[in-house]
Amino acid sequence: VKDDGHQSIMFFDEALEKEASARRQLESDLRRAVRDNEFELYYQPILNIGSNRVAGFEALLRWRHPERGIVSPDAFIPAAEAIGLIVPLGEWVLHEACRAAAQWPVAVTVAVNLSPVQFESQDIYKVVVGALEKAGLPASRLEVEITESALLEAKEADAALHKLKEIGVAIALDDFGTGYASLAYLRRLPFKKLKIDKSFVRDMRASAESENIVRTVLELARRLDLTTVAEGVETEEHLAALREAGCMQAQGYLTGRPMPGSDVGAFLLNRSLR
Ligand code: C2E
Ligand code: CA
Ligand code: CA
Ligand code: CA
Repeated sequence: VKDDGHQSIMFFDEALEKEASARRQLESDLRRAVRDNEFELYYQPILNIGSNRVAGFEALLRWRHPERGIVSPDAFIPAAEAIGLIVPLGEWVLHEACRAAAQWPVAVTVAVNLSPVQFESQDIYKVVVGALEKAGLPASRLEVEITESALLEAKEADAALHKLKEIGVAIALDDFGTGYASLAYLRRLPFKKLKIDKSFVRDMRASAESENIVRTVLELARRLDLTTVAEGVETEEHLAALREAGCMQAQGYLTGRPMPGSDVGAFLLNRSLR
């Protein structure tokens, strides 16, 4: 193949065609899945490091595919965003998470991930208020998580986030440190929480740079009066280092894996009675 340019071009075309066809298949599967309700929310606990109590749960989307089994969101959210399906899907996530949280035996928070596409193509403020009202969930129990993204440069996102903040919904900046506009964002948008990306947490022990970044981010958050959450906390060692550095909350396999909604009540009762 090396010295036959013609043939490698054909292979390249075939590979592209294969990719495009896999993409079309995924998209049509997704449309069917939204119609047939193949989605489910899992919930991962977030712990207050100081008290060792559950502060809340993050809702994480799962697709129960009839043939492929459980599909993780990284495998389908980009496609759902590209074809606009994230809008109805994201609306379902908001309604389902609020409905579930209103039934929990302890009044902790529920965090929902929002896609930038949801800000562009609908009045997300109205959707959130609708979900809260329908579920009878106080706004103070809902958090929304957004990532730094070029799409969020849109002005409509600013207005929606400020209105959500006004009614008591907490806004969290997700995956902090992995984007490119972090500091400008912090100044412009009404964040209450900062979630430190798991890549920094993972490397904290092995790399002095990562540890310094985590410490500096925690100091920045302290000065800006933001609640800090470390993601990807997998070991006692991680937790000890974060506690020592003054991080407020922890989320990761150590504190609990994402679990089906039916397990949350027992988890909460168990943790709260201890
Ligand atoms: P994220 O918001 O950063 O969510 C945290 C991800 O880290 C989750 O992956 C979670 O399962 C995983 N995780 C938790 N603890 C640990 C740990 O200790 N170690 C490691 N290595 N990973 C851990 P998941 O559930 O596969 O979700 C992936 C991403 O998909 C999320 O990243 C989020 O960006 C997106 N996503 C999930 N649900 C939704 C949703 O309802 N709407 C939108 N728009 N995006 C969602
Ligand atoms: Ca998140
Ligand atoms: Ca994250
Ligand atoms: Ca992420």
